Amino acid sequence: MNFDHSPKTRALVAQLSEFMQAYVHPNEARFAREVAEGDRWQPTRVVEELKDKARSAGLWSLFLPPSAEGAGHKSTSQHGAGLTNLEYAPLCEIMGRVLWSSEVFNCSAPDTGNMEVLARYAGPEQQKQWLEPLLDGRIRSCFAMTEPDVASSDATNIACSIGRDGDSYVINGRKWWSSGGIDPRCKVFILMGKTDPDNPDRHRQQSMIIVPRDAAGVNVVRPLTVFGYDDAPHGHAEIVFDNVRVPASNLLLGEGRGFEIAQGRLGPGRIHHCMRTIGMAERALEDMCRRTLERVAFGRKIAEQGVTLERIAESRILIDQARFLVMNAAHMMDTVGNKAAAKEIGMIKVAAPAMACKLGDPGARRGRCVGRLHACLPLRAGAHVALCRRARRSASQPGREARAGALQMTHPRSAFGAPPQGGAASGPAKPGLPSESAGAQAIQADAGRLGAAAFAPRLLGCAGSVRHG
Ligand SMILES: Cc1cc2nc3c(=O)[nH]c(=O)nc-3n(C[C@H](O)[C@H](O)[C@H](O)COP(=O)(O)OP(=O)(O)OC[C@H]3O[C@@H](n4cnc5c(N)ncnc54)[C@H](O)[C@@H]3O)c2cc1C
Repeated sequence: MNFDHSPKTRALVAQLSEFMQAYVHPNEARFAREVAEGDRWQPTRVVEELKDKARSAGLWSLFLPPSAEGAGHKSTSQHGAGLTNLEYAPLCEIMGRVLWSSEVFNCSAPDTGNMEVLARYAGPEQQKQWLEPLLDGRIRSCFAMTEPDVASSDATNIACSIGRDGDSYVINGRKWWSSGGIDPRCKVFILMGKTDPDNPDRHRQQSMIIVPRDAAGVNVVRPLTVFGYDDAPHGHAEIVFDNVRVPASNLLLGEGRGFEIAQGRLGPGRIHHCMRTIGMAERALEDMCRRTLERVAFGRKIAEQGVTLERIAESRILIDQARFLVMNAAHMMDTVGNKAAAKEIGMIKVAAPAMACKLGDPGARRGRCVGRLHACLPLRAGAHVALCRRARRSASQPGREARAGALQMTHPRSAFGAPPQGGAASGPAKPGLPSESAGAQAIQADAGRLGAAAFAPRLLGCAGSVRHG
């Protein structure tokens, strides 16, 4: 396996990093301000402005892999940047450093998964009506699968009915956690439901269908909250579909083939979340390194204390483990396909959020350094507070050697002197650090939201338990 960046990826990594430095990081405080002021559910002006810049720079819809052939229609390679999943991974990681930035590049969930579904399975008319404006960033979309009344981790439970009636399908059901469903730009849903509830093969009962947002009977009931945060302006909606009638041609791929589509759709969506989580973790580690150089405790800089070095080394190991697993999954998706790569995708779905939580959890739980918690993103603060815990720990010799090696890759000083070269061993290049002033302001304004988001990938395992109110 060769995980070296292709020349095309190297050029895009450099270009994207420069863009982030020039336009995204300096606008973190503005984004937080815009969300805090006025109507929280309106799109921010800053993202719309940056979208124009990103498109002009050619940093647009980078996610669509070249190999996804349409069902007799256009291949996705005609739409996106033609990058493989492996080529896209480091770019997605860079975007992950700022929670909202992937939208700037038209690479945000759930639109990416929905665009891929439309590119693979929709007919030419639907592609013209929905895929083209999505690729253009003119509209947004929503994926409506999860339901409040059934355990949706097992999608065979999904009960929403899609009944054939002449040239139409009629949809009845209640969905929740439909991310992006509240956004006024959201014009289309891809909905999963049952066309054949009595089919003895439980995996042939389901279908996916395109539902226009303005169809009669679509009622967005309310935004949900994740640990008390509504994630505005994107949000997660509860939606009732009450006798919603759509043309029969809106059914994707054919009756009973919903699981087939889900296998294709959910793979890329999950790997993108993992890539972004790694970007966020890298930023947290950089922040931790910076801070340990600033603070003095017990007569020495925190960076000079053994436990600090151990924690930094462990963080480096955790992040690189997750990155290599993600790259492996991306490689498998590119070479054997999303379906055959299901195990590798499943592994990163566990590993990447676990890594982020391990870096972040202590910050939420431990009392030490709480003076800083109010001002830091929980994940970033968590990584920092991790330095204060487990002060006495005897490492085994192999453990020490491994940690020493990892430490050489991410010594606190290296984060501020010469930036570490090449990232994961010889892997992705590290994007530069955000400016401290912009970062700090954004942190003050946005602490809780980003913390919740850092946990979100893990929470995808259970929506009900994260809802408050
Ligand atoms: C921030 C956020 C955004 C989301 N966005 C979307 C979206 O855009 N569209 C959408 O359709 N859904 C979305 N979801 C919902 C998500 O996909 C579901 O939460 C997930 O599929 C799990 O379904 P559930 O909540 O019904 O949990 P349940 O199915 O009730 O499961 C709860 C937990 O129990 C575990 N479990 C289940 N069965 C067993 C068993 N037999 N033994 C042991 N453990 C078991 C599950 O793994 C899970 O961890 C989102 C959720 C969150 C938190």
